[in-house]
Amino acid sequence: GSDRIYDAFLKEIEAQNLKDEVQVIRTGCFGLCAEGPIVIVYPEGAFYSKVADSDVKEIVEEHLLKGRIVKRLLYKESIEEGQIKSLNEVKFYKKQMRIALRNCGVINPENIEEYIAYDGYKALAKVLTEMTPEQVVDWVKRSGLRGRGGGGFPTGLKWEFAAKAPGDVKYVVCNADEGDPGAYMDRSILEGDPHSVIEAMAIAGYAIGSKQGYVYVRAEYPLAVKRLEIAIEQARQYGLLGKNILGTNFEFDIEIRLGAGAFVCGEETALMTSIEGHRGEPRPRPPFPAVKGLWGKPTLLNNVETYANIPVIILKGPEWFASIGTEKSKGTKVFALVGKVNNTGLIEVPMGTTVREIVEDIGGGIPGGKKFKAVQTGGPSGGCIPASLMDTPIDFDSLTALGTMMGSGGMIVMDEDTCMVDIAKFFLEFTVDESCGKCPPCRIGTRRMLEILQKITSGNGTEEDLEKLEELAYSIKDSALCGLGQTAPNPVLSTLRYFRDEYEAHVKEKR
Ligand code: SF4
Repeated sequence: GSDRIYDAFLKEIEAQNLKDEVQVIRTGCFGLCAEGPIVIVYPEGAFYSKVADSDVKEIVEEHLLKGRIVKRLLYKESIEEGQIKSLNEVKFYKKQMRIALRNCGVINPENIEEYIAYDGYKALAKVLTEMTPEQVVDWVKRSGLRGRGGGGFPTGLKWEFAAKAPGDVKYVVCNADEGDPGAYMDRSILEGDPHSVIEAMAIAGYAIGSKQGYVYVRAEYPLAVKRLEIAIEQARQYGLLGKNILGTNFEFDIEIRLGAGAFVCGEETALMTSIEGHRGEPRPRPPFPAVKGLWGKPTLLNNVETYANIPVIILKGPEWFASIGTEKSKGTKVFALVGKVNNTGLIEVPMGTTVREIVEDIGGGIPGGKKFKAVQTGGPSGGCIPASLMDTPIDFDSLTALGTMMGSGGMIVMDEDTCMVDIAKFFLEFTVDESCGKCPPCRIGTRRMLEILQKITSGNGTEEDLEKLEELAYSIKDSALCGLGQTAPNPVLSTLRYFRDEYEAHVKEKR
């Protein structure tokens, strides 16, 4: 409904002759999706939530004309004893730290000058005028940043491999093919702050010696694509992309490639195959992209959120970034908090924040006073964390130890009514659907697993089926060609690990 509300504000402001005094700015997502559409009126910072078309007139007449805040429309958490709290004091934001999302919901993403006003392109200027490419790589390494798209590979090491790979032609690629059900952090960054990704890709180009970047983005994200197109064009006009960037000899440009919605194209080798114009199927690694990637040339691939951290690391220094988070997982992580939780939305927290803090403090608990049962992280490649492990600090390694993974940051909360076998079945249906079919363990094996699950949930399963399910899961993990197949059994294995009794209950129903 935000589009309608934006139009209604324009109309009302014009009708009240306030055009010269009030600007209405479209921003990206501010995170608190459960309370949308959100309108923030400055300078007071009044945070109006769930604004309806019919509320617009009142906000304009009362707040803008008479200076009286419309209390009934304020987000309930943002007002205390009649006073507006700073957003940092609101429960939803208090434990958050916005680095990748720093400009989302703050600037107009279609206006490069707003990005520049918030220190945009300052990091690019700094690397081009004060740093050697080797120093840039060193800073990224020292920051401890790990890839936010899935496995958590050290970003600086990737940059170093690509920088050291021999070759005159190299590519920088941004993976914006976010496909996990329930995850939308990359989309929000592109919609809310596209220049942060463009700036980071140019910095990466300088660091590894590349002149050309590609953003591979889902065609299902039309607003993200549109804002990216606008941002690239504006960056060219401002001399921040193209030849002689900022008056130096450095040359770098970016093109967009649209993905057609295949989940497997988020896998880096499939993504590159798709950019090359072929059917998006993974290929065996090695060779790794840093050595032989796009069109056989050394290629640096990072996802949207990883890139969004780079300009801040360059401006504030690697030590600053490394001081946030846990010993082996530095910085923050953006999660899409969805499912059975009061405050659904996009959150960014320091690594090491616990599940309890996320679900209870930021998420505001479970609706209807129900009990928290588990949270699924990592989407179809991940697994669940049960309530008994709610105090686990979340980072790459703690999640792996629990049998799940960070993935791109989908976080689906489940309450006491959720059947965990159904959840495992849902994710497996998704991967069966999305398997590219290139290798038999994934193409055939996941389908057999799904059949067993269907048998179990329809009340026809046996103990023997449970054993078969587990055996099949391990063999697919060991033998599938790419990450999609290797991780597809995770939701089943993880629910078997923590909720075996629910599988057994289904099996016992039969007896
Ligand atoms: Fe394709 Fe699945 Fe094999 Fe990956 S694991 S190559 S998605 S069939």
